[in-house]
Order: sequence, then structure tokens, then C-alpha cells
Amino acid sequence: MTQHYSRRKLISKAITTVTGFTVGNLFLQNLSDANAATNSSKEVWIVEFSPASVRTGRIRLPKIIKSEAQWQAQLPLASFYVTRQEGTERPYSGKYLNVHDAGIFRCICCNTALFDSQTKFESGTGWPSFYQPIAEENITQTKDRSLFMTRTAVSCTRCDAHLCRVFDDGPKPTGRRFCMNSVALNFTPHA
Ligand SMILES: [Zn+2]
Repeated sequence: MTQHYSRRKLISKAITTVTGFTVGNLFLQNLSDANAATNSSKEVWIVEFSPASVRTGRIRLPKIIKSEAQWQAQLPLASFYVTRQEGTERPYSGKYLNVHDAGIFRCICCNTALFDSQTKFESGTGWPSFYQPIAEENITQTKDRSLFMTRTAVSCTRCDAHLCRVFDDGPKPTGRRFCMNSVALNFTPHA
């Protein structure tokens, strides 16, 4: 047992030494009980919606797992930086900041429905903001203890794309504020 533990410790230390990037991930704590159980089998529950935002069903789908090189080839550079490297776009720079048309904001990486335009509000922060996800299943919330702060990061349940952080100073009815990055989203107007 002792030997096993030491070995793990060594491996962990090696990863930490090689990439400072990985250090933050070691402190991530998955808050989504429903999907924590399914992550190990690489399947997740996702709620699907029609182009008119009508809920069409809750289905179990394989998680989308791609290499960093594959994501880089698929995504524009800014989207890759935010979704796969936990970046943040500059405030007031996002193309969806002032979009208020009726429709669905989907994941730029895997097209999973994430937010309905009806829950978008003006937060004054410079980032498109929503007070709730279109379905709790479709996002995963993770305690993020990087940079000596405890915050809650939000990712896409289907593909693990980093999306945003969520704060508890949002408007009614939820009091939540999902501070989104436009480059992580793809807006589909209602058909
Ligand atoms: Zn996704």
C-alpha cells in the first residue's frame, strides 16, 4: 500500500513539475453527482432541444473525447484558447454580448444546447450573461481553487469544454450569473 501511495505521489509530482497547467486540475472537485457517476463509463445524460427551444428528451450519450490537436484543428484559435485551455475572452469583445434574438446558444465544440436567449440579461460586466442553463444536465459545475481563490467553473457536460464561471449575484428568479465567453458559443436563432 505504502509503495503504491508513494508511486502515485511521485507521478503526481512529476506531472506538476512538467506542466504547471495541470496543477490547477488536481484541485478540481466535481460537483455534479449525476454525471460524476457516468464520467467513469464515458457516457453522460444530456437534454436535447428542438430549434424552437422545445425540450425533446433526456438521453444518454457517449462523452466526446478528442486530443488537443484535434480540437485545435476544429476550432478558431480564440475558441480553442477559451474552451480547451480555460481562457477568458476580453470583456466587451464578444460577438454575442448584445444579441437578444430568440434562440439557443450551443457549445462551439459539440453543439450541445447550453443557454436559452430568454434567460440572457444585461449584467454590465462586458460578457454575455445568463441566469440559468437551458438544462442543468448539460453543464457541469466544478469548484476551482486556482489563483488562491475558490470559484465555480462551468463546463459542457458532453465534451468538457470550459465555458465560463458562475457567481451568486445574478437576477431573479435564480440569483445566478453565468458569465459567458462568446467564443465558447454558437447561436442558433429560432427556426
Ligand atoms: Zn460541448
